[in-house]
Amino acid sequence: MIGSLGKGNGMTSERTRQRMVERLRQAGILDEAVLNAILAVPRHGFVDEAIASRAYEDTALPIGHGQTISAPYIVARMIELLRQANSPLTKVLEVGTGCGYQAAILSKLFKEVYSVERIGQLLEKTRSRIWSMRIHNLRLMHTDGSLGLTEAAPFDGIIVAAAPQTIPQSLLDQLAVGGRLVIPVGGNKQQLTVVDRHEGGYSQQIIEAVKFVPLREGSI
Ligand code: SAH
Repeated sequence: MIGSLGKGNGMTSERTRQRMVERLRQAGILDEAVLNAILAVPRHGFVDEAIASRAYEDTALPIGHGQTISAPYIVARMIELLRQANSPLTKVLEVGTGCGYQAAILSKLFKEVYSVERIGQLLEKTRSRIWSMRIHNLRLMHTDGSLGLTEAAPFDGIIVAAAPQTIPQSLLDQLAVGGRLVIPVGGNKQQLTVVDRHEGGYSQQIIEAVKFVPLREGSI
């Protein structure tokens, strides 16, 4: 069931969201555009009503099919990193749509957003949610994102919400020159990693330790 998208009260009000944004600021998120986008997107509308009252805690929450909505801090951090690419980003790919929360935020910040999800049933639920929110610059596709999205490549930015053991070659290939990939990498110990593509190749930076669900191959 989809949580109320109205003005809300108590734990789902805009004031609760403002407090969450304050906490993100204190945690070191500096990009005002990212903070504004987070303020504008009602996170409680992306989880089941039964847990909507917990939507503004800085924690991952279950969204069914063994998957989770990422914690607000990591969503903010990854998008902040994406926006610090060497050139302005127009076209962005998200791998791992899940409930669509991060995709909705991306669609406020970038002109053209593609998001791919491997679990068909999860994507269908998200599709109707995104439709009811009237987000028009976001395209959702049911496919294995470890292969990227060939038909829309290259991308100025790629953001991955599930962790592979090593960075998939397709994602590197589908990154535009001047573009940036933000991706958690590893098994038990994962590192948030940023890859920039230059004229002559790629450069890589490790940002911080993170915990994501694994990136799995194939779609279901
Ligand atoms: N961005 C989401 C996070 C969802 S969790 C949000 O805002 O809620 C990560 C998601 O990645 C899961 O839904 C999982 O099914 C999906 N995923 C894992 N491997 C994938 C792959 N190879 N291709 C596409 N999606 C994948």
